[in-house]
Amino acid sequence: MIVLKTSKELALMKEACRISARALRIAGEAVEPGVTTGELDKIARKVIAEAGATPVFLGYNGFPAAACISINNEVIHGIPNKKRVIRQGDLVKIDLGARLNGFNGDNAATFAAGSISPEAERLSKTTQQALYEGIRAAVAGGRIGDIGAAVQRYCEERGFSLVREFTGHGVGAQLHEDPSVPNFGTPGRGTRLLSGMTLAIEPMVNLGKKEINFMPDKWTVVTRDGELSAHFEHTIAITVNGPVILTKED
Ligand code: MG
Repeated sequence: MIVLKTSKELALMKEACRISARALRIAGEAVEPGVTTGELDKIARKVIAEAGATPVFLGYNGFPAAACISINNEVIHGIPNKKRVIRQGDLVKIDLGARLNGFNGDNAATFAAGSISPEAERLSKTTQQALYEGIRAAVAGGRIGDIGAAVQRYCEERGFSLVREFTGHGVGAQLHEDPSVPNFGTPGRGTRLLSGMTLAIEPMVNLGKKEINFMPDKWTVVTRDGELSAHFEHTIAITVNGPVILTKED
């Protein structure tokens, strides 16, 4: 069931999203060679707590941390660990959410530890721009397939592939709501987009092939071919004035 939000509810949800964005930025600024993923998680947790919000990933389906932190060939859902040291050249994906006012924010970004390879840079930039292409397609009267098609076209034209097993999603009072928002699709197909929908759009883009595997921890998703992956995500609202990014600090 898709839950449409009133403008009053969007204002409440904006606060959760603002804190999510702040926690993501501050954790991202701490990414550098030598820091551990456990330390990054601690930073995110602190920012969320100081804002009076709750880290929504912590305990979600049993996830043991406030942030998912995934490095290089890890796509999503990496578990922070105080022994996992980030190295020069790593591509670090942080995904986190905050809950406040009964609503959730959800966002992710890819950060470079020191200087990264040109192909890692191109992958990261393409993934970020693909997110914006998807957001631009999220307009009332359109279809879910318009979003996926925009993301897919932008990435595949540049020689990258899209993970199929995980998708964006509705987000609101629940972290995961209907509809699912695939990063591939056909324009004009799928659920009608309506004003008041709030969606997490989150391309997961692979340098090599699209196939993934699970690690033995049952959480961490990795590329099957061992190549790099990048991830960016915003929570947005579809409004009569077009798509609005909620996971921003302003
Ligand atoms: Mg999400």
